[in-house]
Amino acid sequence: MSSTTNNSLTIAKFGGTSVADFAAMMRCAQIIKNDRSNRVVAVSASAGVTNNLVRLSQANVPQAEQIEILNTIKSIQFNITQHLDNEAKIAPLIEALLVELSSIAQQQSVEYSSQCADEILSFGELMSSTIFAEVLRQEGLEAEMFDVRQVMKTNSLYGKAVVNIEKLKSCASEFLLPKMNEKVVVTQGFIGQDDQGKTTTLGRGGSDYSAALIAEALEADNLAIWTDVEGIFTTDPRITDQARSINEISFGEAAEMATFGAKILHPATLIPAMRQDIPVFVGSSKEPEKGGTRIQKSVESRPTYRSIALRREQTLVTVKSPAMLHASGFLAKVFAILAKHELSVDLITTSEISVALTFDNPPGSTQSLLTDQVIEELSQLCQVKVENNLSLVAVIGNNLHSGIGTSSTVFNCIEESNIRMICQGASKHNLCFLVNEEQANNVVEKLHSRLFV
Ligand code: ASP
Ligand code: MG
Repeated sequence: MSSTTNNSLTIAKFGGTSVADFAAMMRCAQIIKNDRSNRVVAVSASAGVTNNLVRLSQANVPQAEQIEILNTIKSIQFNITQHLDNEAKIAPLIEALLVELSSIAQQQSVEYSSQCADEILSFGELMSSTIFAEVLRQEGLEAEMFDVRQVMKTNSLYGKAVVNIEKLKSCASEFLLPKMNEKVVVTQGFIGQDDQGKTTTLGRGGSDYSAALIAEALEADNLAIWTDVEGIFTTDPRITDQARSINEISFGEAAEMATFGAKILHPATLIPAMRQDIPVFVGSSKEPEKGGTRIQKSVESRPTYRSIALRREQTLVTVKSPAMLHASGFLAKVFAILAKHELSVDLITTSEISVALTFDNPPGSTQSLLTDQVIEELSQLCQVKVENNLSLVAVIGNNLHSGIGTSSTVFNCIEESNIRMICQGASKHNLCFLVNEEQANNVVEKLHSRLFV
């Protein structure tokens, strides 16, 4: 690939595996060198570091374990810095960050606070960005590490902070923009800062979202998300080896995919990109020559079927009330209970006296879950039936709400499966249904070979 210089602006984001070790960072450096429109780079923590920091940020971590975790993190980072020509300059910077981290971790084990937890989590990105900026310099680029907390202003909801987009915009033009003309700016995904100057984080996997917000704030021409897969696939390649990478997909379809299972992008990533109409590229930093997926507003083709997403561990709740017959206000009461518990419903079907709702309910999730308490409150209102062990299969594409023969094509090929609930018509990009967990892979495989091969 030849080197291109132009005035267009791309925000590049490298995920944890892309900055996992020195060889991976070198591949990312070549990507930046080959396309000089990459003037702002947001990085994740090196693979494994955030998971270790999460453990370190918890309450009552015994001191021996703290030391062990710190050593693990240290060896991940020093395995990279030892390859730098400028090791003598960078290793002490990382060492200093680790010393600071260690003292915050000790404080945290004495008295836990969620703010301190975010402070601890931020070190992963602070270290990886410090190292990656040096890798770029070693590769002959003018590069500078930039502390994103100067611009990524958030509220104080630690662990899931909400970004103030207006402040981000004004701070970015004041502090970030002037640097971009001279240097490649290397900054952190995932972290931010609240009004009191305390460090916050945007939620696990939030670096994609950070990069998208920066792209929006700077009115970038492109957002490139570099990960370890060559784009978005027609379905999960672990289910069928016939899954293949999609060249292009519209924002509308990609948003449905992100909601319904495809775990490639942080689900909020597309929101800023769509607001500012910035095309998003998703590719593999391991094999950039293989291309990837372009997500944008207008696409060349709008095939009926684009992909099949699968989301496991769905819970189906059927609420039934004979009193609902010709009555109004029942649904409002049901949803008031759900809203109180901050539960979001994915699919809904209704009949005259009953309503079926699905919830994403994976154990260990960071979101609100459907608890016994919620069921109890619903039971005071109506009869409640809860079914588990269901998977949601979503066929994503175009004109799925109306196309003649579309649903028969889909359902003919899975007719012997036990389909529990069907939703069609609300979105033109999505037709979905629930199946038993055990049948899910088989259903997706069959559908994929019928619709895509
Ligand atoms: N390092 C953070 C995480 O693992 C953010 C990210 O990688 O997107 O959740
Ligand atoms: Mg990630």
